[in-house]
Amino acid sequence: MYTDWFEVIDPRFEALILPNVHVDQLYDGGRWLEGPVYVPAARHLLFSDIPNNRVLRFNECDGAVSVFEAPSGFANGHTLDRQGRVISCEHLTRRVTRREHDGHLTVLADSYDGKRLNSPNDVVEASDGSVWFTDPTYGISTEYEGARLDSEIGSRNVYRIDPSGAVSVVLSDLVQPNGLAFSWDEKILYVADSGSKPSRLLAYTVSGGKLSAGRLIAEAPRGIFDGFRIDRHGHIWTSAADGVHCLTADGDLLGKIRIPAAVANLTFGGPARNRLYICATRALYAVYLNVTG
Ligand code: MG
Repeated sequence: MYTDWFEVIDPRFEALILPNVHVDQLYDGGRWLEGPVYVPAARHLLFSDIPNNRVLRFNECDGAVSVFEAPSGFANGHTLDRQGRVISCEHLTRRVTRREHDGHLTVLADSYDGKRLNSPNDVVEASDGSVWFTDPTYGISTEYEGARLDSEIGSRNVYRIDPSGAVSVVLSDLVQPNGLAFSWDEKILYVADSGSKPSRLLAYTVSGGKLSAGRLIAEAPRGIFDGFRIDRHGHIWTSAADGVHCLTADGDLLGKIRIPAAVANLTFGGPARNRLYICATRALYAVYLNVTG
């Protein structure tokens, strides 16, 4: 009854998926797709095509894909803040920006301690208005994803931008911090390290704007963990080499959505937030699930 797109590893996975649904390929003209964000007021999904230096827009109502912004500063990860504004991580311009309702950009962070950031990768907002982002070196290690430049900071950190604008380092010991997401109660911040071998997913306790020592949740069997999201029940839906892996909050692998290309990132969308949008190398896919995000 489940289509071949799904691989059930643990029977608990069956409660999260739907029978007779297929994975739709919505677009296949990108080069390396990343950073999807669903904008409910516009019924569209924005996603980055990093090497092509552009952000694309999928219109959920008519299925059309068009260019939203180019050049995009080799933008990568996005998130929507609680006022519905899109926050972007930009590789080339080495900054985190927010698009205001009137269209202009506000720079939230471009340096730390007087030194330029590496290349912000992924971003999430907490309910207190703080913005948390990762800063690996992928956007300054090749021309393909930005521009080859030296790291001024000399480390690859995770940062928190306080609502006052102050930027602080919350993690400094990962090889390449990448995707990140809070648990629903915001007591845990999950962070992917796509530079460790194997690539790892870690969980940190959040308290007073700081993180405690990390706990290993899962190691990628092959490929890397990049972007991921947490569903309403706390399951982790993460990118992987062979598709999307669904893990429990403690890292047990429940099942997979098989995608025929490496997946970099994903997000829940649709008016009911029950449609998982998946950025997989050159293509954008989507699938309806029996869980919301
Ligand atoms: Mg990423």
